[in-house]
Amino acid sequence: MKRRITIAIDGYSSCGKSTIAKELAAKLGYSYIDSGAMYRAVTLFAMQNNLYKSGALDTERLIPRLGEIHISFRFNAERDASDTYLNDQNVENEIRRMEVSEKVSEVSSVKEVRTKMRTLQQDFGKNKGVVMDGRDIGTVVFPDAELKLFMNANLDIRALRRFEELKAKGDTAGFGQIKENLVKRDYDDTHRNEDPLTKSDDAIELDNSDLTREQQLNLVLERVEDLLRLL
Ligand code: C5P
Repeated sequence: MKRRITIAIDGYSSCGKSTIAKELAAKLGYSYIDSGAMYRAVTLFAMQNNLYKSGALDTERLIPRLGEIHISFRFNAERDASDTYLNDQNVENEIRRMEVSEKVSEVSSVKEVRTKMRTLQQDFGKNKGVVMDGRDIGTVVFPDAELKLFMNANLDIRALRRFEELKAKGDTAGFGQIKENLVKRDYDDTHRNEDPLTKSDDAIELDNSDLTREQQLNLVLERVEDLLRLL
């Protein structure tokens, strides 16, 4: 039997990480884990429980309640993808809303939140055969991943992709608001103290601004095949 590997995909917001991750997982018969969805679910929990004080996250009230947060993924045959569940509630649509995007970086900068998410993520990937995307997967969660990608794309292209994605779901967020949110999240995610977004030395950089989905997938699949031949 072919050996199964771990594939870590990191990079800036909305630069196609989840698209390539899902396609790779489907081609290889691996599982796909969206680590960003997990931080979004914690953010939704904080919002639902009003763990905010004067508009800022009240970390002193969030931390003792982290034990109440249970996150899981369940396959949805209609979408041919996994939905995110927060305490047995399907929150897949809610966590993609602009309001959550605007609050998620604050939540993901909390050390205790990251420790909890990291433990869960490492557990999801303990048997290998996993493709996980996020901001610290190749650097912190799976530093020994056999394949690491670091993705980027032109800001306007990223904002347009997210705009169309949200519009299709009926979200009214405008292009300018989305672009602003991407710039802010990139800044916050690269400048935080805990596990900031940074390219691992052994990650392959991939700018997909001018690549079609198919070109991008074929490029990465070639790498995977090369790796699997060597193992
Ligand atoms: O990938 P997505 O854009 O859904 O991620 C939402 C947010 O979750 C990011 O902006 C970042 O703040 C946080 N995140 C993180 N570490 C990860 C994945 C996501 O801090 N591994």
